[in-house]
Amino acid sequence: MSKLTDTHCHIQHEKFKDDLGETISKTEQKMAFTVVSGANKEWNRKAIDISKNSKNIYATIGLHPIDAEKMSEKEFNEELDFIEKNANNIVAIGEIGLDFHWEKDEKLRVLQKERFVQFLNLSKKINLPVVIHSWDAEKEVLEILEKEKMKKVVMHCFSGNLELMEKALELGYYISISTIILRSKSTRKLARDCPLDKMLLETDAPYLWLDGKRNVPWNTEYAAEKIAKIRKITKDEVLEATLNNAKKIFGID
Ligand SMILES: [Zn+2]
Repeated sequence: MSKLTDTHCHIQHEKFKDDLGETISKTEQKMAFTVVSGANKEWNRKAIDISKNSKNIYATIGLHPIDAEKMSEKEFNEELDFIEKNANNIVAIGEIGLDFHWEKDEKLRVLQKERFVQFLNLSKKINLPVVIHSWDAEKEVLEILEKEKMKKVVMHCFSGNLELMEKALELGYYISISTIILRSKSTRKLARDCPLDKMLLETDAPYLWLDGKRNVPWNTEYAAEKIAKIRKITKDEVLEATLNNAKKIFGID
């Protein structure tokens, strides 16, 4: 039995449109399980479609902060309703969060924060974990999560510093290490210091692979190899721990 997991990918991306069926069957065969993440209206619906037709592919749905801030209030509320109606079809709300890398406008940053809190309130209402996107906003994201007393949290593709990772760990959150570890020294440092029982693996496919090539869910194996080498343990130990952690946070048997 495979112990491979990918807790965050976007195989509903158009880069998979020519071989989606094949990608799905390979993913089902090679992986213990996989989580397909929505980030906009179209991807949310496709993530649910994929997971409904699969035994071991699960969905999370949400809005990337830039997509969230672009919506009218009506449109945003409709998407919140859509998520609530699909609570039984998903394992978490996400990705959601803050992106201050792409958004420099102070007013729109405030709007991002407001809508982020609305998502957090929904997660409390339907009792599901949240999967967090944060770029150049890790400190703000953690402050909000703490203030809102969030308990079940995954820091997707975490790119904060060690101090911020410590903060996230203190709050009991999971740190998701992506395949970017193969080319990022700072991610290698996080993977060295993050306790194994709080670590997850992801690709963020089709993103974050080498030479701009398309990433695929089973590439988490290379991330696991790298982590094993850094920590001087076996790849199997990394796969086993990350599988157990993913089952626990997403409530998968
Ligand atoms: Zn993503």
